Amino acid sequence: MTQYARAVRKLKSPIALLLGLVLAVTAGVSAATTASAAGKPVSVPPGAGDVRPLGVAFDPGSGRLVQGYAIVHRKKNARGGGQARQGKIQCYGFLAKNAKWKTVEPWVVNPGNTSGLTDAFVASNLAADIAKWEDAADGAVGSGPGVNILGGGTTTSNPLAVDNAAPDNVNEVYFAAIDEPGAIAVTTVWGIFGGPTFQRELVEWDQVYDDADYGWSDSGAAGKMDFENIATHELGHSVGLGDLYNSACASETMYGYAGFGETQKRDLNTGDITGANKLY
Ligand SMILES: [Zn+2]
Repeated sequence: MTQYARAVRKLKSPIALLLGLVLAVTAGVSAATTASAAGKPVSVPPGAGDVRPLGVAFDPGSGRLVQGYAIVHRKKNARGGGQARQGKIQCYGFLAKNAKWKTVEPWVVNPGNTSGLTDAFVASNLAADIAKWEDAADGAVGSGPGVNILGGGTTTSNPLAVDNAAPDNVNEVYFAAIDEPGAIAVTTVWGIFGGPTFQRELVEWDQVYDDADYGWSDSGAAGKMDFENIATHELGHSVGLGDLYNSACASETMYGYAGFGETQKRDLNTGDITGANKLY
């Protein structure tokens, strides 16, 4: 086996652990093909779990080979998702141990959406939600940003595109149709997830919110997804945290399911804070 092939095999192993925790739930929402103005429709690679490998690609920013994953966030269906397991519960998890940001890169958002959220709200709320994770990274919530993890953002009216084939050194956020039944949002991450933990690193994140299948609100409105609630969860993936599917962790922002009108994930819970602190 070549060194390269060994590296690829190692890259996949931590994520395989995550896949084992996934319970597939279909919310019965049909995939839409309507594109909003903010970006082109997003296709998620087929697969059984909510973490879909995107393969290995060259990262123009770091000059290295990196691995990509698309992480799907779903609506919880009537039967519920996630079973409570017995024993000691750890309500945080990582995409891979020590896979975190080691440089600070800016992000860009096209806030255009079909739900009536204002551009100013989307942009300012994203920044505020990022600040929650940066505040928690030093383990002391309310103390201001402990660690600058995701940098500053700018707004654009140009169409953006998730990078499912290879990173492009731009961290993009927008609304569009997601071609995956039940998907509320998808965050893609590129980085080094295997090998020695000190070498692991995140190098790119992109994020799409589905405004074709879901309405969005800024107030926890019934029948809609609360943007702050979903965005705070998705940004947890951007900093390197993984989904939780044990219902004993349902109070955590990183719990893997969401519902209409839910606002519980706006604020970080104890497991979220511990996870961010351990990672950074
Ligand atoms: Zn998630």
